[in-house]
Order: sequence, then C-alpha cells, then structure tokens
Amino acid sequence: MTAVAPDTRGQRAGVDVDVDAIVIGAGFSGVYMLHRLRNMLGLSVRVLETGDGVGGTWYWNRYPGARCDSESYVYCYMFDKELWQQWEYSERYPEQDEIRAYIEHVAERFDLYRDIQFNTRVTAATFDEANGTWTVSTQNGDRLTARFVIAAVGTLSVSNTPKFPGIGSFAGETYHTGCWPHRPVHFVGKRVAVIGTGASAIQAIPRIAQEASELTVFQRTAGYTLPANHGPVPEVVKRARKADYEGIKRRISESAAGFELSFLEKGAAESTQEEVNAELKTRYNQGGFGIWLGGYLDQFFTQDANAKIRKFLEDRIRERVNDPATAELLVPKGYPFGVKRVPLESHYYETFNLPHVHLVDVKSNPIAAITPTGLRLSDGTDYEFDTIVYATGFDALTAPFTNIDFRGRGGRRLEEKWAEGPRTYLGLMSAGFPNLFTITGPQSPSVLSNMTVSIEQHVELVSRIIADMADRGADTVEATREAEDAWVAHNQEVAEATLFPTAATWYMGANIPGKPRVFLPNLDFVGPYRAKCDEIVNNGYEGFVFDATITQEVVA
Ligand code: FAD
Ligand code: NAP
Repeated sequence: MTAVAPDTRGQRAGVDVDVDAIVIGAGFSGVYMLHRLRNMLGLSVRVLETGDGVGGTWYWNRYPGARCDSESYVYCYMFDKELWQQWEYSERYPEQDEIRAYIEHVAERFDLYRDIQFNTRVTAATFDEANGTWTVSTQNGDRLTARFVIAAVGTLSVSNTPKFPGIGSFAGETYHTGCWPHRPVHFVGKRVAVIGTGASAIQAIPRIAQEASELTVFQRTAGYTLPANHGPVPEVVKRARKADYEGIKRRISESAAGFELSFLEKGAAESTQEEVNAELKTRYNQGGFGIWLGGYLDQFFTQDANAKIRKFLEDRIRERVNDPATAELLVPKGYPFGVKRVPLESHYYETFNLPHVHLVDVKSNPIAAITPTGLRLSDGTDYEFDTIVYATGFDALTAPFTNIDFRGRGGRRLEEKWAEGPRTYLGLMSAGFPNLFTITGPQSPSVLSNMTVSIEQHVELVSRIIADMADRGADTVEATREAEDAWVAHNQEVAEATLFPTAATWYMGANIPGKPRVFLPNLDFVGPYRAKCDEIVNNGYEGFVFDATITQEVVA
C-alpha cells in the first residue's frame, strides 16, 4: 500500500498524489470511511471536501432552527462503544451546531484531520482500465490517483434554487437554507419572505418569526408534519440508554428505518377511526416519528388506511390554527400521508396565529418573478421585502454523484448512464465503474432511514469488500450488469406496490424540472436490506465480479 506524508491541517496539496483510496466528502460518511480505511485497514487515504470543515449537512445548513429530527442517542456513530457512551448531546434532538461539534470531536479523537484536504471540490474522476486506477481532478487543478474512490458526497448536499425570472435583480439580502452563511444573520425589524414549506422551512419559520417585523411564507404544497415534543431527556432515561448500548445498536440495525420503532400489528384499515385516533393521540403527544415510521404499516399501501391517519392529523391542524382560511391552506391536499418526508415541528402552526405572519398560496397563483424590491405573483400582485429566504430544498440523491464527471470503462459517463434514472447494485456500485463506491447512494435505504445507521452499514460494507479483495488478490471489484438490472427492477417493483409514487416529491425527483420521475431510495427497509447485503457477501459476493488480472499482467 502507498504511504503519504502527513501535511499540516488545511494546507494539503493534491498535485501528483497517489493513495490507495480517495474519499469525496467529509460528512458523517467520509469521516467514518477515512477511519475504517486508514486506521483499521492500514490504507493510505485522502479525503477531499469542498467546505473548510467537517460535518457535511451540519456544516452547510446553519439556518435558524436547524436541528435533527432523529433523536440524539441514535443520531451518532455506534461503531465505538466508548465514543457513544462518552458523548452527550444536550437535548432530545441535537441542533446543528452540536452535531457539527460532535463530528469535529470524532475527527480529532481518531486523528483524522491530517488526511482531509478542505476547500477542494472534486470535478471529475476517470478510470484507467489498463492499470485499474482512478485519476481524480479538483477545481483547484489537483490531480490525484487511487485504486479506490468512495463518493461520500451525501444525498442532500446540492441545494436547489428555482430559476425564477429576475432572480438576480433583488436588491435586498438573499439566503438559501442549504447554504447558510457562517456568520449571524439578523431579521430584527425586517420584512422577510420564506419560499417553501418543507422540513427546513418548518424549522426556520418559527425562529424567523421571533425577529422579523413581517414574515410572509409562500407555500406551494402543504405538508403533513408531526410534533417534535422537543426538550431535555430525563436523567433516568439517559442512564438506561447508556447501559443498553448493545441492545440499542442491535435494535436500530434490525429495524425498519434505523430507529427504535416498529410497526403495529393491526392495520388502520381494520380499525375504526376512533381506535386509530386513540392510538395516534398517544403518539402525537409523545412527539417524534412514532406515527410515521412506527405506526400503521398499511398506511403506505392502501388509501383506506391512509385516510384515517390523514383525518386525525388534519383535525389537529384545524385545532391549532385560529383563522379557518389559513388552517385550510395548511391542511395538505391531494396526496397520501407519509409518502413525502414528514418533518417534525415545534410551534409551526401556532406561528401562523401571530399577526405579523402571513401565508400565501403559490400553487393557485405561482411566483412569476423576483423583482428588485421583492417578488411578483402570476396575477400581478407585488410584495416588497428586505430579505428573501429560499427554503427550496435540494437536487437530491443523484446530483451529488452526477455533478462529478465520473468516467468508467470505455470513458462512459455516470451522468449519461443515469440519464433515465440511477442504475446501481444495492445503491453501492454501478456496473462499468469498478472500485467506485457510493455511500448511501440512490437505490439504498438512505433518506428513508435514520441516516447514521445506513451510513455505518455502507461504510462497513465497503471496508469489508476492500479487505476481502486483498484476500482474493483482486485489483478491481465491480457490479455485474445483470445484478444491477435486477436491483433496479426490484426497487421499482417494491416502490410501485406502495403509495410513494403517487405524490410529486423529491423522493421521485419531482422537485427538479426535467428530472426523470423514478423512485430514488430503496424501500426494503433498513434491517432486511442489511440482511440482504450480508447474505450476498456471505454467499461469495453474488452480483459482483473481482478481477485479478491487472497486477498479474503488469508483473508479467
Ligand atoms: P453530507 O453530510 O451531505 O456530506 C457530504 C459532503 O460531501 C459535504 O460536506 C459536501 O461538501 C461534500 N461534497 C459533495 N460533493 C463534493 C465534491 N464534488 N467535492 C468535494 N466535496 C464534496 N438525516 C437523518 O437521518 N436525520 C435527520 O434528522 C436529518 N436531518 C437533516 C437536516 C437537514 C437540514 C438536511 C439537509 C439533511 C438531514 N438529514 C438527516 C440527512 C443528512 O444529510 C444525513 O443524516 C447525513 O448528515 C449525511 O451525511 P453524509 O456524510 O453522507 O453526507
Ligand atoms: P424540501 O422538502 O424539498 O422543501 C422545499 C420547499 O420549497 C417545498 O415546500 C417546495 O414546494 C418549495 N418549492 C420548491 N420550488 C418552488 C417553487 N418554484 N415555488 C414555490 N415553492 C417551491 O426541502 P427542505 O425543506 O430543505 O428539506 C429537504 C430534506 O432535507 C427533507 O425532506 C429532509 O430529508 C431533510 N431535512 C431534514 C431536517 C430535519 O430532519 N430536521 C430539516 C431540514 C431538511 P413543493 O413541496 O410543492 O415542491
């Protein structure tokens, strides 16, 4: 394996560097990948990261109210018992700054910084079939070579700003939740617009409303939400959890979505509305994902079952919002509960009871243009603002990978291969791109799970494959086209059996004009997906080919 001299933090150069593995991205995935490959397998590794710090999502998304929807004790690494037991987040759901501090702590603790090159965006990576290596190019003009490339680029790391006419003309301040400045942003005394009402907006709106003199929210699609019931965790609960590391780790790995939640045995379809209401009321008051990822499983399959959940949640919105017209706008319409990401909220609905907060429907009357003083709707209504906040989401799941000009066998481009939708085996590899791994790639459970669980599973799977390659004397590993075709078909089949494809969501690529409409994550659920991966590995890597001829030819 190649040795690389360590540089001082932040001053690495990447010209003519040759390492065993290049990891792209320094979020949860990249940081753990570096630890596994360097500290556990002894490989030389270079991590390349666009930002100037670790954290990924939690480095970029610094908008007011940014906080995790996964509970603290499971939104962290589980690979090291001491790390898990020693770290303590302060509340039920950790906030952005604390999560960033946690990842920084992990990077320090495992001495990872010396192999991370910041301020370095990867633009391209080309596979050389003759010698089985990748050449990686960066925006800074670096060229690095490596046998393995691990794209730990995230699923929600390419922010999306709609191409409104006149977008550059606004004279006030403009922000995007997914790329927030690293300095305090003040709204006191300002007239603020928030465009969008997804998970980011739902967290930001109550906080911005506390400062702004006027806040106008432009909503295209009302979303179902669940209460967070955020707050401190009782000491007795914390102690019980610390004592149950093995149990928690096992339960979340085997679960449906990476949480300590399991679905009810009895379906909503075979329960009365009163029974459903009673069950959901307890869960609503507890807060968290209990209604979505641990409630009635049949809500994902039949409209009858789903309608009962919707009825319960819609009544809660009408109870909490004073003005009936505003409440009606906030009640979701035309799609089932649970097939669009269900955000957790704190005081979201009550914020619309404040006299200086206004809700504008831009489904019936879309935003036509951004103007120098604000924005204009299609019917000609003008609004004036000091600040516009775009909470308009991400080009999710595929763009972080296809934004890099990956070229595999025969110079084939990944972007071109995925033009009609992603094609992967297990969401981990794509045929024709040997030794390139995609952490939580499309067609893996990824965003339909508590992602730290899925990240650990993928990172550990990649290191297992690389370790097994050494045992087999293999130079390359690659998914077969047959295995990939079968996996793509399987993913669509599983999704089509559910209500997920019936809604226009970013899971379907529907938020980006022109993006193919295919269901992007995998719906096997975390536990069964993990079992499937384990079975494949234990059965001699069905669907993968290992090639040992390159080194032999070089030696010959
Ligand atoms: P990321 O954290 O996205 O990190 C990827 C890194 O790769 C980034 O730092 C990026 O700069 C870098 N990168 C990308 N492309 C390049 C390139 N070409 N060159 C160099 N560097 C590159 N998940 C949950 O499970 N629970 C939650 O409650 C939750 N809350 C979230 C809240 C927000 C606001 C968002 C946006 C996402 C949330 N997620 C949540 C999903 C979250 O993305 C994952 O939990 C997790 O942080 C992903 O880690 P990652 O390392 O895979 O990707
Ligand atoms: P999002 O869910 O995609 O929401 C984007 C919002 O912008 C939607 O309301 C969308 O409306 C609206 N929008 C987009 N284009 C528009 C246009 N041209 N005109 C008007 N409105 C427009 O993005 P997000 O809120 O950033 O969240 C993305 C994902 O990140 C979440 O689903 C979640 O996975 C993760 N996240 C998690 C947390 C957390 O766990 N705490 C917090 C934030 C984000 P439509 O719905 O009509 O498209």
